Amino acid sequence: MDSENIIVIDGQEFTFTQEETILQVAQRNGFDIPTLCFLKGAIPTGACRICVVEVEGATNLVASCSTAATPGMVVKTETQRVVRDRRTNIELLLASGFHNCLVQDLDMDSWTDFQLKSMEPKEHQGLCPAYGNCVLQDLAVRYQVKLSHFAPAETKYPIENVNPFIVRDFSRCVLCGRCVQACNEIQVNNVITFDLKGAESKIITKGDRTLKDSNCVFCGECVQACPVGALVPKDDFLEGQTPEEENRVRTTCTYCGVGCQLYLHVKENRVTKVTGVEDVGPNYGKLCVKGRFGYDFINHPARLKTPLIRENGELREASWDEALKVVSDKFSGIKGDVGPDAIGVLSSARITNEENYLAQKFTRGVIGTNSIDHCARL
Ligand code: SF4
Ligand code: SF4
Ligand code: SF4
Repeated sequence: MDSENIIVIDGQEFTFTQEETILQVAQRNGFDIPTLCFLKGAIPTGACRICVVEVEGATNLVASCSTAATPGMVVKTETQRVVRDRRTNIELLLASGFHNCLVQDLDMDSWTDFQLKSMEPKEHQGLCPAYGNCVLQDLAVRYQVKLSHFAPAETKYPIENVNPFIVRDFSRCVLCGRCVQACNEIQVNNVITFDLKGAESKIITKGDRTLKDSNCVFCGECVQACPVGALVPKDDFLEGQTPEEENRVRTTCTYCGVGCQLYLHVKENRVTKVTGVEDVGPNYGKLCVKGRFGYDFINHPARLKTPLIRENGELREASWDEALKVVSDKFSGIKGDVGPDAIGVLSSARITNEENYLAQKFTRGVIGTNSIDHCARL
């Protein structure tokens, strides 16, 4: 063990590698230092100061996400001073906008009551779409913070709801910058940035246009990165979320051959949201507009669920056996009369790679033609 690369965290010694931060060493060793603005894969900014820790010899608390571990450093992660500072920062964040969830109206005399009631959505009207899935709310519950000392800021900007995918609610934005980093550093789309104007500060596109009128490609990376209810998928916003009703199903995106790993968030047998699976290739949490938002066809009322056979110009429902027999008879007839190259097969971008593989095997092996393609449009 290289004794020069040792740091002490809450009384235990740990080794670290060059360029590791206090937060990285702590997380690697199972310490739960809370963070809000920290975005994995992006340059840490230390903006929210939720991850502050005490470092022996330092006058001020330091942001663990942006402070490098150094030999002999002695760190304390949850002292009274640290907790007091985190609570003030959480309170300021809650006061910075319209955070009307439970954290503001609970009696804090009993810690247990506070935490139990805080997870009871039925108690609260007009749930924020991030309710139960909000880092700020979790922090407020963990540190028993409610909005008592600071008056909530006035709502300065209206909700932006003029695109098919993303709702921007500036009143819930805590200016953590994760969306900016997600857009610029992770996806490298460079669409949004800070417009720092004191209390009027805002995350903007070039010229402060709506996302619809900007260069946004609606990859949704900013939505996935937003720790609060400031950026939410439109479906989520319209339907509202309650933690008890939502399940996550891991699957592989079927839109193209990359094989991105994603979670389908399912409520009452409907997909309400899609998020990328972090830490797993090939996409490491990133998705494109199709993988992220292209799921409304699943429950679309116009979706075909039964085979249809056209007779005398009219479509009628049929069983699979009947429909397959019609197709088989017609294929055999065409192949016998004019040869297999008179038949072409159009497969689909909305089925799995395996199904597309079977389609080409069927086209080449059974029908006997190479005329197979697929339609890749949304
Ligand atoms: S964004 Fe989070 S803290 Fe704010 S109202 Fe919604 S759930 Fe509460
Ligand atoms: S959806 Fe993608 S491109 Fe558009 S602002 Fe968000 S991260 Fe940037
Ligand atoms: S929109 Fe969300 S991610 Fe972006 S700065 Fe505001 S709170 Fe942070």
